[in-house]
This record gives sequence, C-alpha cells and structure tokens, in this order.
Amino acid sequence: MYDVIIIGAGVSGAATARELSRYKIKACVIEKEEDVCCGTSKANSALVHAGYDAAEGSLKAKLNVRGNQMMEQLSRDLDFPFKKNGSLVVCLHEEDMPNLQALYDRGIANGVKELRILNREELKEMEPNISDQAYAAFYAPTAGIVCPFGMNMAMAENANANGVEFKFDTEVTDLKPIDKGWEVHTDHGVFQTKYVVNAAGVYADRFHNMVSEEKIHITPRRGDYCLLDKSAGNHVSKTIFALPGKYGKGILVAPTVHGNLLLGPTAIDIDDKEGTNTTREGLDQVIAKAEMNVKNIPLRQVITSFAGLRAHEDGNEFLIGEVEDAKGFIDCAGIESPGLTSAPAIGEMIAQILKEKMNLEEKEDFIATRKGILDPNTLSKEERIALIREKPEYGNIICRCEMVTEGEIMDAINRPLGAKSLDGVKRRTRAGMGRCQAGFCSPRTMEILARERHVSMFDITKSGGNSRIVTDNNKDSL
Ligand SMILES: Cc1cc2nc3c(=O)[nH]c(=O)nc-3n(C[C@H](O)[C@H](O)[C@H](O)COP(=O)(O)OP(=O)(O)OC[C@H]3O[C@@H](n4cnc5c(N)ncnc54)[C@H](O)[C@@H]3O)c2cc1C
Repeated sequence: MYDVIIIGAGVSGAATARELSRYKIKACVIEKEEDVCCGTSKANSALVHAGYDAAEGSLKAKLNVRGNQMMEQLSRDLDFPFKKNGSLVVCLHEEDMPNLQALYDRGIANGVKELRILNREELKEMEPNISDQAYAAFYAPTAGIVCPFGMNMAMAENANANGVEFKFDTEVTDLKPIDKGWEVHTDHGVFQTKYVVNAAGVYADRFHNMVSEEKIHITPRRGDYCLLDKSAGNHVSKTIFALPGKYGKGILVAPTVHGNLLLGPTAIDIDDKEGTNTTREGLDQVIAKAEMNVKNIPLRQVITSFAGLRAHEDGNEFLIGEVEDAKGFIDCAGIESPGLTSAPAIGEMIAQILKEKMNLEEKEDFIATRKGILDPNTLSKEERIALIREKPEYGNIICRCEMVTEGEIMDAINRPLGAKSLDGVKRRTRAGMGRCQAGFCSPRTMEILARERHVSMFDITKSGGNSRIVTDNNKDSL
C-alpha cells in the first residue's frame, strides 16, 4: 500500500513528488508516457511570470508570485537553467494606457515587486528592436525564463533520489474507493494507496469526474509556436508581450535560456486532448502578431514549430485540494499558465495538505540538491582537456549544432530516470534541438542508446510506444 500515488509526471506531479520526498513516505508517480515531461510541460513559453496577470486574490496569483520567488534558489539547488531577464508588455496606442495601468495596479495588488511603466524613449533604449509604433510599456524585472524540460526532470530526479518510485508507460484507467484509500487501476496492474494526487494535465477532469459528483470540465486550448535559430536569439533581451486579451496573454516574442528566439502562442480551443499539431493559420497568426510589437524579426531563421495544450478549466482557476465528496483524492487540476512558474509552489501546497492529513515526519537524510548533466562547454580549456583525457567520450561531438558530446548522451541515458528514446536524449542534452533538427545526429544517438541500453537498433524509438525509427523488413515479412 502506497501512502500517495501521483498521476502524471509533468511539472505539477514532479514538484509534488519532490516536496513529498522530504518526508518519511512511500510514494509513487504513475505516468502513461515513457518519460517525465511528455505533456504540456514540454511545450509552452518557458516563462517564469512575474505574477501581475492573474486576478487579485486568486490561487493562480498567489502561487505564481510564490513560484517566481522560489525559482532562483530551486534552479541553483537542482541545477537547471533559469535566467531573470524581465518582461515588457507593450502598449501601441495611447488610448490603451488605462489597460496597461490596470496591469500595473494588479501586479502591485498581487505583491509583485519592482514594477515600472516605461515611456517610448526608455523602452527603445532597453529594446532597440521594439516596434516603432510602441507608445509605452509595463516593465516587470522579476520575470524570467527557464528550461521547462530541465526543471521538470530535475525535480523528478531529485524526488527519485529521495525514494519516490516512478512507473512509466503505465496508464491509469480507473479509480475505486477502498477502505482507507483508493485502488488505482492501470494497464499494468492495480495499486493501492491512501491518497491520490490528480496531476494529469488536460486529463485531470477525467479523473476528477470519476470520483466526484461535482463535475469539472477542461478544454484543451492549443498554443502554436515558431522557434528560431540561435543566430536570432539576441533580437530581444526581455520577453515582449502584447496587451492581454480575452484568451490570455497574447503572442509574445522571447529569448530562451538556450539562446533561441520563441514566437507564440496562439489560443485555439479544441476537443482533442492529444491535438498538438500546428496549423498554417495558427503559425500565420503567430508571425503577424509578433511583428506588431517587434520589428525585423529574422523569420528565415525559423527552425521548427510546435504546439502545446493549456488545461483550461471552465472556472479559470487552479483547482488544488481534497475533493469534498472524495476523501483522499487531491486535485491538481486546471493547471494552465502560469502553471510552470507556479509548479514549485503547487508542490509545496500539496505536500503541506498531505503532511497535515498524514502527520508526516521529515526525513533526516533528505537530499536537497541534484547535479545536472555536465556540459563540457561550461569548463575552462584546461578542465576540458583533463576531462577528455580521463573520459574520451567527452571529446566526441555527436550533435554538431548544439555541440553535444557522447559523454553527455551517455550520462543522460545512464542517470536515474534516464533517457530511453531520441526525444528523451534531446530534452536532457539538446542533441537534435539545433538548426538541423536531428538530421545528422539521430543515427549516432540511436547507436549510443542501443549500446548503453543493451537493446537492438530496431527497439529505439523517437518518443516511446510505437514510434520506431528503423524497421526490420525481414522480421515484418515472416
Ligand atoms: C501554449 C502554452 C504556453 C504556456 N506558457 C507558460 C509559461 O510561459 N509559463 C508558465 O508558467 N506556464 C505556462 N504554461 C502552462 C504550463 O505549461 C502548464 O501549466 C504546466 O506545464 C502543466 O503541468 P502539469 O504537470 O499540470 O501537466 P502536464 O505537463 O500535461 O502533465 C500531466 C501528465 O499526466 C500524464 N497523464 C495523463 N493521463 C494519464 C493517465 N491516464 N495515466 C497516467 N498518466 C497520465 C500525461 O501524460 C502528462 O505527462 C503554458 C501552457 C501552454 C499550453
């Protein structure tokens, strides 16, 4: 019998697992995909929002501000990329100034620090590529950018190092109440637990509605993006937002922590909870709106496009806490933006709820820190030479676009909760994320995966399941 089973290994599930792992507890994360960070947490704007956007007094506002405050220390403790680069909301017309002022006032009410309204000259000086039409901007220096994969994996790895189990490729199919807990039915057996945490992203309404008479409804709200090459990464230094509209924060232009430029997202309500395909119309909208606030965007440098799904709950609020008519079932539902920013605070909140319910005791041997994959490019020349002498695999470049070595890929595969597929390696090391989008390095990464995992090349997938890359014709014809 587990104390807690968490459904979903996105940022919400991983943050909860990490916070719970501070205590003497038997916990398990169950994930239907082959890896952590396979849902919405892998496809978003990667921003650490300052906290002025959500309504005053809402849980979204509270957890956004708290998550923002926690991020810097957490990124140091768990060794993932984070940069406080600040954000600007651009106002193009003088008559929209009251809307900009309203954002400022909301930020102050939410407890966001250092906010300022900039005039055109100050704005131009800060961001030379801002549109010539810009009239003023709202500046939030505490906003930042983060590597969403790095953050999600770091929290999961640390939770695992502190004793939390992870079951991948395991889909939760049903939940049944039992005496003092729940039976969690999956396609790989039935597990018993005292508490369930429902961190299933766009599927969280499905589990909530299985156990409660008070139904909720989550709409997948798609956001399309264009990602530009690193040569465009310095086009802006801060995240540039338009004034928000009915469907959220609008199209932004932002640098990424790895030096690319990101344009997007759209906000299109769909029915399909797996509908992460981009569309021509969506990408056209991204480009047209991005160009309204930022000029001369080098669009020839687009290297890929992608889409993510916001888990938009009808009440437009995070639903976190024990469900009234389902004792022992803790919702973590409706976690749309600012869910990435809020994740550390969400984890803290859920762990606190469970600590009180179970009278949890802290562990003396909690490991608070974790080391990420060593990037030889961060070393001095002398250190790099010494490393390559000791471990020659760090001298063998596999991904030329991102300069990723065989040593880093081996580390990504062999560390706890290691990579099993090409995408798993990509999200941990960036091999395949560059200009050629894995055109050159895929076969070499596959060879390393096959060798390190002691499997055949035919068993290597792009992203788990049936996404095989090499097929055995002889075997197929037998
Ligand atoms: C377009 C877009 C832009 C965004 N930008 C930002 C931003 O800049 N900053 C910010 O703070 N937030 C942003 N967000 C929000 C943020 O990305 C999400 O709030 C966050 O990633 C949600 O994490 P999660 O763990 O709750 O969900 P997910 O990451 O979706 O994780 C849920 C997990 O549950 C698993 N699961 C589902 N069903 C089952 C089942 N039956 N059995 C087992 N496992 C299951 C899924 O496979 C998935 O891995 C954005 C979101 C989108 C879509």
